[in-house]
Amino acid sequence: MAELLIRGEILAPGIAAGRVCFFNNQPDSSADISGRPYSDINAEIGRFDREIKRLKVDLQAAVKILQIDSLYEAAEIIQTHVLILEDKDFLGRVHEQIRKNHLAAEIALEHVLGEIIDILEKSENLLVSQRTADIRDIMLRLKMNLKNEDQAVFKKVLRNVNSPVVVLKELLPSMVLEARESKVSGLLVSEGTSLSHAAILAKSFGIPVLRIGNLRQAPMKHNQEVLIDAITGRLILDPTKESIQAVKKTGKTDTREKPLLPVGVWANIIDPEQVNRELLLNTEGIGLYRTEFLFMHNQEGFPDEETQYSVYSSLFEKCGKSPVTIRTLDIGGDKILPYFSFGPQDNPFLGLRAHRIYRFHPEILHTQLRAILRAAVKGGQLRILFPMIESVDELLFLKKLLFRAEESLKDSGTEYIKNYEQGILIEVPSAVWSFNNLLELVDFASIGTNDLFQYFFAVDRNNANIQHSYQPENPAALRMLKSLVDTAAEAGKPLNICGETASDLHYLPLLVGLGFDNISIDFHMFNPVIELLKNLDVSGIKEVVRKCLTSATFIEVRNNLEKAGFAARFDAAPAVFQEQEAIDPVCKMVVHTENNRFVTEENGKRYYFCSQDCMNRFLNKGNK
Ligand code: PEP
Ligand code: MG
Repeated sequence: MAELLIRGEILAPGIAAGRVCFFNNQPDSSADISGRPYSDINAEIGRFDREIKRLKVDLQAAVKILQIDSLYEAAEIIQTHVLILEDKDFLGRVHEQIRKNHLAAEIALEHVLGEIIDILEKSENLLVSQRTADIRDIMLRLKMNLKNEDQAVFKKVLRNVNSPVVVLKELLPSMVLEARESKVSGLLVSEGTSLSHAAILAKSFGIPVLRIGNLRQAPMKHNQEVLIDAITGRLILDPTKESIQAVKKTGKTDTREKPLLPVGVWANIIDPEQVNRELLLNTEGIGLYRTEFLFMHNQEGFPDEETQYSVYSSLFEKCGKSPVTIRTLDIGGDKILPYFSFGPQDNPFLGLRAHRIYRFHPEILHTQLRAILRAAVKGGQLRILFPMIESVDELLFLKKLLFRAEESLKDSGTEYIKNYEQGILIEVPSAVWSFNNLLELVDFASIGTNDLFQYFFAVDRNNANIQHSYQPENPAALRMLKSLVDTAAEAGKPLNICGETASDLHYLPLLVGLGFDNISIDFHMFNPVIELLKNLDVSGIKEVVRKCLTSATFIEVRNNLEKAGFAARFDAAPAVFQEQEAIDPVCKMVVHTENNRFVTEENGKRYYFCSQDCMNRFLNKGNK
């Protein structure tokens, strides 16, 4: 049987081979008990309290086990669930619903937690809205316990399945705990994010998790063999032995000692919490701290100077002598804030973004810069990185704001760092053409290929239907990168690359061949990246890249790489599945499922189309 690839988003990294097992962790709502009469209110309250107590005991036991295993972060997460169960307001509200409205315990619980979930879900703040998963998790567990369907059901489902890969709707903390206990190899989910508590648990347990938006449409059967490659973000159905071996090889490495590598490896982070001893031991330092998440986390408004100061201080304290590159705020595009209006924007990626906002609100950057300069006193080396620079004029505008921030600190006699580096993030093609002038004004530069290629190829990086035009291996893109490497070398200024291409195992050899000395990568990718770099034939890849630079097409580049034995990109990368999207089975375009009138049902399966024409062709061919 031929392999089938489905792209997914990595929620927790790793590799897992196993067999599919479906589990419904969202049992039906309480329809079956809603009408259940009970005569004794106190007995019903007692029933609810008993289940709360039982769950609390279970969770406390789990916390103990995690602490014994030194999984302190995981233990803390579960401890927050215990705190919710002890919350007097929550318990009182459920009692009141039972007492006043004569509701069964399950319904009362659904009512009270449902209200809390509603409020949290409305939040545009990603971190807050994600916490609904924790509340929903507690609700589902309590409801299961009240129905006497505890977690034994999970074990029953896994019985007789070898190395189970469990398919779930939503990634919830209790499921991850169960998965650990039941030695599940990996998880496939259609809902959840990498910042959720459940994902953090999975990462600390080493359970790989992939999110595939339209998981229900994936052609999977119970007990089917699959391979989760949560290093490059793929699910492989019916993998061959060769694929399993090849993928497993990329996932293995030993990072205990720092090996000699052809490039310096730096880390991309979004939160100081991600920094630990191992990360610092294995890297040159922080190559990109995306500060936007701190701003997205706040609900009421821009975090004030003191709030920012304490977050940045914790980062410097953790990093000690290691260099820390802090990117100044790059909101706009797809990073929006619940408390700030960007005004009318037909195309947000070409609109108000990063420093373009400071033309109207310089105080946003002023506050951030003051907080950074103050906090950096506690650390070793500060590198301030300005994103989205288009021209020398914009850079001069930002340098003026930086100068003013320093002046204001000096005037008020506040302690701040005086010795630090300034850098620019190259993400806009116009900056490539002024790179030598820009470099004269800064100490270092980094390349943000996610945006740079988006603007270079005029391809929205989030639109699945046009991903074939997003071609990092196109010779034109390679020539652009090469010119940046050469210009930086001539100017004697350090150059880094921090876009996703640096974490892409298929692309990384090209970057080394182009002459990059430093890369900054997602910290989840350390092991496979280091493994690849340790074994890379550097002079071989330099030779191949020389040929690629004079190639005409990206296919030629791929062929050159493949012929010389360097990893080539996987063919026919299927379009990314997002929520409410499906693939038109005729033209293979990604189409919407919501409000799409071109839809038909065959053997219980729904098919969506881009047009009447495709639907007719499907129906006429009997293409089932
Ligand atoms: C990039 O554009 O490559 C980059 C590093 O920034 P972000 O992905 O945060 O836009
Ligand atoms: Mg960017």
